[in-house]
Amino acid sequence: MAVYNYDVVVLGSGPAGEGAAMNAAKAGKKVAVVDNRREVGGNCLHLGTIPSKALRHSVRQIMQFNTNPMFRQIGEPRWFSFPDVLKSAERVISKQVTSRTSYYARNRVDLFYGTGSFSDEQTIEVVCPNGVVEKLVASQIIIATGSRPYRPADIDFHHERVYDSDTILTLSHTPRRLIIYGAGVIGCEYASIFSGLGVLVDLIDNRDQLLSFLDGEISDALSYHLRNNNVLVRHNEEYERIEGMDNGVVLHLKSGKKIKADALLWCNGRTGNTDKLGLENIGIKVNSRGQVEVDESYRTSVSNVFAAGDVIGWPSLASAAFDQGRSAAGSIIENGSWRFVNDVPTGIYTIPEISSIGKTEQELTAAKIPYEVGKAFFKGMARAQIAIEPVGMLKLLFHRETLEILGVHCFGYQASEIVHIGQAIMNQPGEANTIKYFVNTTFNYPTMAEAYRVAAFDGLNRLF
Ligand SMILES: Cc1cc2nc3c(=O)[nH]c(=O)nc-3n(C[C@H](O)[C@H](O)[C@H](O)COP(=O)(O)OP(=O)(O)OC[C@H]3O[C@@H](n4cnc5c(N)ncnc54)[C@H](O)[C@@H]3O)c2cc1C
Repeated sequence: MAVYNYDVVVLGSGPAGEGAAMNAAKAGKKVAVVDNRREVGGNCLHLGTIPSKALRHSVRQIMQFNTNPMFRQIGEPRWFSFPDVLKSAERVISKQVTSRTSYYARNRVDLFYGTGSFSDEQTIEVVCPNGVVEKLVASQIIIATGSRPYRPADIDFHHERVYDSDTILTLSHTPRRLIIYGAGVIGCEYASIFSGLGVLVDLIDNRDQLLSFLDGEISDALSYHLRNNNVLVRHNEEYERIEGMDNGVVLHLKSGKKIKADALLWCNGRTGNTDKLGLENIGIKVNSRGQVEVDESYRTSVSNVFAAGDVIGWPSLASAAFDQGRSAAGSIIENGSWRFVNDVPTGIYTIPEISSIGKTEQELTAAKIPYEVGKAFFKGMARAQIAIEPVGMLKLLFHRETLEILGVHCFGYQASEIVHIGQAIMNQPGEANTIKYFVNTTFNYPTMAEAYRVAAFDGLNRLF
């Protein structure tokens, strides 16, 4: 067994692992990254964020081709198969692997492909696919092993018609009807993707409202547009059992309903990838979801072991994972790059896209904060009309006395980009974080950013 010495060893090469490794390496530390896949990028690149976003982009293009009358001059509406659409995702993944691999080479970070586990607080054993075991010794170790779909024991995930959000990427046909169990972000995104391909989707929600953490108006808009696109949303339902058959799958609900479809996609919960880490060897405990607890420095209960990304739970987003990883390394190198990542925007790539930051109307009302609302509807905006993207709205919530921006909520075309303008202004010090910025600043025209100006005037007009 070969033994290698490092300052920092990072387990996992997803966004959290990459953020951690790059920050430590740039500070002059000798760094190694271990990943049990033969390519970098983590589940984010290979199974989660990137494939689902590439799929969505292709589906949106197909929808535009099928609905824009201009395209009728070159052909009738066409339907693409799921495997055809998947090819665009594969192209992006391979390009991303190439560029991300080069970051490691450029920063002289060593990559080990194999499963890593702790044999003691400073030693990681890496079992490589060929059976060779390498020993990495480091004074600091960062766990960034991410998460995977939660699989309840009573569901047969080996059945050829039962998928989770990882295995759906192996689907080799387009089902006519699909049940999506779980209406969280991933379930809603896949409901948009499949319904955009013309698949009849039953979206099963355990709760009475989609994505209830969103501003109520935005959640309502999502429900409306999913239904408008042929998604049957069933609220307050729980599965009793899932019956796989040769010609389909039947979902038996506790309410007594039975739903039959060609396939079922399970999107209900995720588990931290901690079971193969040998954490019992160093006394780190995990919760019932397999997640590791950390303090604000991203330090675990063992002082030289840190953790970041999905493996620590909330918010389980690639965006946050990268910053958490960078911050975990920041705690080690103490160069001022640490920050506790708690102000994370929401980006949901449903059709329509949703993004928000700050407080919702429900939260402000509950806290008795006197706020006012300013709205801009995309259907009236020149840029949205040019792009033939009339669905959407930007809503600004601001304090009616100080005019401070308290929340930015957006759905529709480019929502996940638009929100960052509001985020930047919200983060300005002193009185620079008010809605006045948007009426005192000249915006490019026509742009989607103009929605801020329209929404600000709308809001200020409501004041008396
Ligand atoms: C369908 C889907 C869509 C999503 N869309 C978005 C989105 O639009 N925006 C967003 O911000 N987030 C999105 N997410 C969430 C995002 O993918 C995760 O938050 C992100 O991947 C977490 O990054 P991470 O670095 O913590 O771990 P991961 O990306 O999970 O990477 C962890 C890596 O560690 C490896 N590993 C695990 N155990 C070991 C071990 N013992 N030894 C060595 N290696 C190990 C894993 O195989 C993996 O390669 C989505 C997730 C899914 C499933």
